[in-house]
This record gives sequence, C-alpha cells and structure tokens, in this order.
Amino acid sequence: MSTTRVTERHTAPCSDEQLAELIDAVTRSQDEFDIERALTVAAQVERETGNVELRMRARLLRQNALERKGEVGPAARLAWEVNRWAADHDHRDLLAQSHWQLSRSYHYLGDTASCLDHAVRAVELLDDDAPPLQRGRFLVTLADALGWARSFEEARRRYASAEEIYISLGDVPRHIMVLNNLAYTEYEAGEPERAWAVAQRMQAVAAAHGMPLKEIYHDAVARAQIGIGRPGDAERTLSAVLAEYAPASEEADLLAELLLTLAEAQRLCGGTDRAQETLDRCLRLCEQRGLAEVRVRALREQAELHAARGDFESAYATHKEFYAAAEALRSEEREARARIREAMFETAEARQDARRFWEQARRDPLTGLHNRRYADERLPVLLAHAAQHGEPLAAALIDIDHFKRINDRLSHEVGDRVLAIVAELLATAAAAFDDDDAVLVARMGGEEFLLVLPGSTAEAAGRLEEVRLAVHSYPWQPITGALPVTVSIGAAPALPDSTQSTLLARADAQLYAAKNAGRDRLMIENSLAP
Ligand code: GH3
Ligand code: MG
Ligand code: MG
Repeated sequence: MSTTRVTERHTAPCSDEQLAELIDAVTRSQDEFDIERALTVAAQVERETGNVELRMRARLLRQNALERKGEVGPAARLAWEVNRWAADHDHRDLLAQSHWQLSRSYHYLGDTASCLDHAVRAVELLDDDAPPLQRGRFLVTLADALGWARSFEEARRRYASAEEIYISLGDVPRHIMVLNNLAYTEYEAGEPERAWAVAQRMQAVAAAHGMPLKEIYHDAVARAQIGIGRPGDAERTLSAVLAEYAPASEEADLLAELLLTLAEAQRLCGGTDRAQETLDRCLRLCEQRGLAEVRVRALREQAELHAARGDFESAYATHKEFYAAAEALRSEEREARARIREAMFETAEARQDARRFWEQARRDPLTGLHNRRYADERLPVLLAHAAQHGEPLAAALIDIDHFKRINDRLSHEVGDRVLAIVAELLATAAAAFDDDDAVLVARMGGEEFLLVLPGSTAEAAGRLEEVRLAVHSYPWQPITGALPVTVSIGAAPALPDSTQSTLLARADAQLYAAKNAGRDRLMIENSLAP
C-alpha cells in the first residue's frame, strides 16, 4: 500500500486522510495485530496532525497496543480519556469503541459490574449500519461479560447473535472463537452437557472447513469431556495436541493451561504417576515464566493429586501452600487494580481541573458574571438555536450612566462596589427565567453589560424596563451618597439573519440614542420586531 511507503520514508508528513487510512489498516488486522506497528502509527498521527478526532483515534490505537502488551493501567487510562472526549463531543463511534475498550479494562480489574456496564453501552451505541465485524466483536465481549456476571441465558443469546454474524460473513476463525467462549461459559454455568455439545459443534465447524483447531481451543473440549465424566477422552484429546505443540514463548501460559487440564484428566483416570509428571512440567513452566495465576490452580491440583495417592500429609502441606499463593496473588492483583484505578482517577481529577480553568477564563472576577470571552462563544450558539427553532430573542447593552463621576468623586473602590451591585441586579433579572440556558448575562468590559433574553420584543421591553427601574430605585445612598446610579439600555431583537456583530451593533445604536435622549432610559428597536 502506498501509504505504508510514505510512513517508512519518514520524510513528507501524511495528509489527514492518509493518517486515517494508516489507523484503519492497523485496526483492521485484529487477528495478526502488530503491536509495534500500531504504536508507530499512533505516534506518527499524534506527531503529524492537529485534528483532534484523528488524535483520539490514534490514542485508542495506542491503548489497544498497550493492553495487548499487558500494560493494563496506562491502557485503561487512555480508554478513559478517549471516552470522556467522545462523550463531551457527542462522537458516537469513538464513544462506542472506548466503552468497548473500557469493558475489557474492567475485566482485567476484576470489576464485573463495570465490565458489563461498558459492554452494554458499547453495543447500544452501535449504529444500524455499523460494520458487522465490529458488531460481532462487541457482542462477543458483551456475551463474555454477561457470562462472567453469571447471566448465562443473556450470554447465550449474545453468543448466538455473534455466531449468526460470523456465519453470514463466512468468517470461520471467529465463528470457532465464539463457540469456544460459549463452551467455556457453559462449563462455568455448571452445564457440562451443553458445554460438550458446543465443543462438538466447534470441532465440527473446524473439520468442515479443513481448519485445525487452535491448541488452546482443545482446552475447552477437554474440560467439557471431564465435565461429562469422560476424563479418558480428555486425556487423549490433550495428549494428541501436546505431542505436536511447540508454542512461541508468549504463549507459555497457554501451554501451562493445557498441561494443567491434562494433569487433572490423568488424575481422574487414575494415572497418578502420569498426572504428577504432567503437573511437574506445568509447575516448572509457571516458575520459569512467572505465571502466578496458573500456578495457584496447579498447586490446588497438586493437593488433589497427593490426596488421590493417599498422601494426606503432603496434600495438607500443599493445600496450605496453595492457600498462601492464592492470598499473595489476590493481594498482588488488588495492588495492580488500585494502581489502575488511581490512574483513572487522576484523569478524572485532571478533567475537573481543566473544567475549572475553562470556567475561570470565562468569568469576570470583580462581578462573578461571565465575561466577554464567554459571551463571544455563547451568543452565536443562542442565535443559531433561535434561528433554527424560529424563537424570538433580544440582546440588550446596559451601560452605567456617568460612571466616571463615581470613580472620580468618590473612589475607584466605590466604583467597584457599584459595578458588583449592578451585576447582581442583572443576575437576578436573568435568574427570573425558567430556562437559564436561554439567558445570557455578561460583563463586556468597563461598566458595560450584555443581557440576552428569550421572548418577543414586548416581553424583552418589559423585563429590561424592570432592570432599569431596579437600578434606579436601589438604595444607593449609603454607598454613593448624593450621586445617583442609573443605567441606559439599548436593545434590539434578533432577525433571522442576525450575526453577533450585526445584532450588537443595532443594540449599541439604541444605547447611543438612549444616552443622547438623557440617560436612565430604555431604547429598544421595534420597527422590525416580531
Ligand atoms: P456615560 O454615561 O456616557 O456612559 O459616561 P461614563 O462616565 O459612564 O462613560 P465612560 O466610558 O467615559 O467611563 C467609564 C469609566 O469606567 C472609565 C473607567 O475608568 C471606568 N472603569 C472601567 N472599568 C472599571 C472597573 O473595573 N472599576 C472601576 N471602578 N471603574 C472602571
Ligand atoms: Mg457609562
Ligand atoms: Mg461605557
């Protein structure tokens, strides 16, 4: 693919389309997902584009790669960040994907409820025209989560839906994967007969397509055979697999898993010597590779094996060892989970900080009102909303009369107090509206304020006259003595094609007229009023 060559040259930066294509290419190959390539592409995207959506997609790719590398904490944190961003920006696809990833993170965390919650949301957020592969993947994760939460009937339904998808796609490997997970879930549900039926179906699908079962899938078959009381079959199944299995080092835990199931089958067949040999191999592998979780279960099997031979003293000693190892593992897992939670929590905290800074930058410290920066962001939104819904709206500029006199004759401090009180009177007027999202009140600078009100020109005129009167009749005497405090107000209704600047210019013209007409009055443009 040409885009591949472009990245490897590392000279010309890619366009956003090329970067998106790079992400898609790595993401598509979920089966032979190349971790290092994914990290390279993610880094490249973050380096070469300012497009936030693309960067979020790259972040999710990095998250996926880190999770596969076993770096669960950093991965969970990234998933969380993308999830927050997608929620704030109504980005449905990234929201769905990040919920899916979070479901997997919570699985590692051992948090059944959150794992299920995120899996449900991921599936809910899928559009009707979502790619079937994605739907299948999400459904399997949901089914796994449901099985884990012991909602077996619900899990079966999702596995069935996923199976249908993969059959219709002719995707045999994924079809087999679904059956494997379903067999495992049936085994966990205490339904060995069902587990066995599914395992047989899995074998049949593989055989029909001339596709040998992956080694690890034989574990589900053997477990089901043990479950239905046929440990001899289980031993034959696994012995045949292990005779030819030379796993890559990263699959060491799969081998240990298979050895453990084989040892159990051999013990149940009465072959305690064979079982001990197999278990020794398994335990050695666990020590070499630091496979703590399999080791704990292997120790339990060892205790069973001692007991099966009548060596109850060793059985008791090994049981104690098992118990200690299980405890150690649990506390290690607890710590790991605490670390991950901490990482996630830090992110939530950082978000709160960001929100606080955002808010601070949009408030006027003297009056506590929103400032011009906020008004510049908010007024266009209100205008667009009003135009879209054909709802009337008016903007008013409110300017304190002869304010300079207050500063000059009294003091700047008194001027500040007057500003704060006028601001409060404006905030009170704004608060009288039921829908405070539809009202905007801001200090635009100096002694000039903006009030944007929903409703007709006549309604606005009524409200604004109340504002004028509230300032006029406020008991100023203790603060300004003989100096009265009044405001002039210029207002104009929004027209269908009003922009922020045309609307404010019309309000300003009215304000100018109010000042010229003697101050302490409201002038509202009503020639074009709705
Ligand atoms: P007019 O009736 O025509 O509006 O006259 P005015 O004196 O109110 O208008 P002008 O624009 O001449 O003066 C506004 C003054 O407001 C000038 C400036 O020093 C003062 N001012 C601006 N910001 C602040 C503030 O934060 N605190 C105080 N105390 N004064 C401020
Ligand atoms: Mg003034
Ligand atoms: Mg002024």
